[in-house]
Amino acid sequence: MFIEDNNMENKQNFSDLNLKNWIIKQCHSIGLKNPTPIQTNCIPKILEGQNCIGAAKTGSGKTLAFALPIVQKLCEEPYGIYALILTPTRELAYQIADQFSIIGKAMNLKTCVVVGGMDMIEQGKQLSKNPHIVVATPGRLADHLESCKTFTLSKIKFLVLDEADRLLGGHFDGQIKTIFTALPKSRQNLFFSATITDTLNILKGTIGGKVFIFEDKSQV
Ligand code: ADP
Ligand code: MG
Repeated sequence: MFIEDNNMENKQNFSDLNLKNWIIKQCHSIGLKNPTPIQTNCIPKILEGQNCIGAAKTGSGKTLAFALPIVQKLCEEPYGIYALILTPTRELAYQIADQFSIIGKAMNLKTCVVVGGMDMIEQGKQLSKNPHIVVATPGRLADHLESCKTFTLSKIKFLVLDEADRLLGGHFDGQIKTIFTALPKSRQNLFFSATITDTLNILKGTIGGKVFIFEDKSQV
């Protein structure tokens, strides 16, 4: 069943989103006053355990729309690699990892960035230390899955496709396929992009269970 929801929630505060106080404090401490529409709408659904497709223009706070609920959930049952975030570029990977580190500072969150241009062996060592969050570009992550038999993503709880439109239906396809076959079937899928396109709609059809869809049309 798909739930399409384009009605904007009117909630104005981080405290209206079922976030724990320590996460809200963390948001305030880095100067965030109120959640953006994509955060207001998607965070409660993600915390409820729903799959989510969220679209809003660049700069509208999509990273924290998935990072805040993931870090909160992770605190309830921290173990191994908890979430995999795929993104199309190295720069975006570092930016996303930075935002996770800031939010997870109090709980000593371990993130690992897996992108091209870095030493494979050193990266493999970092991955073997069981970070909570892996932020990766598809090519390099697929290389690790193919070359290292002990590296596994079979227990992740969350898969995030950041800039999903750019990851799908193009030259990343082979690598994405390699990665998807390494993931557990039971997981929460969070897809974020600037717009909802046909490719994203096709992907929606491949997810079992409910999918909450939010498109911030006011900002497009
Ligand atoms: P997007 O992925 O939608 O392009 P980002 O997640 O990269 O946007 O966020 C863009 C900027 O907005 C970042 O500097 C981030 O820290 C900031 N930001 C995120 N959420 C909020 C908020 N609720 N209030 C103010 N700034 C925010
Ligand atoms: Mg982004």
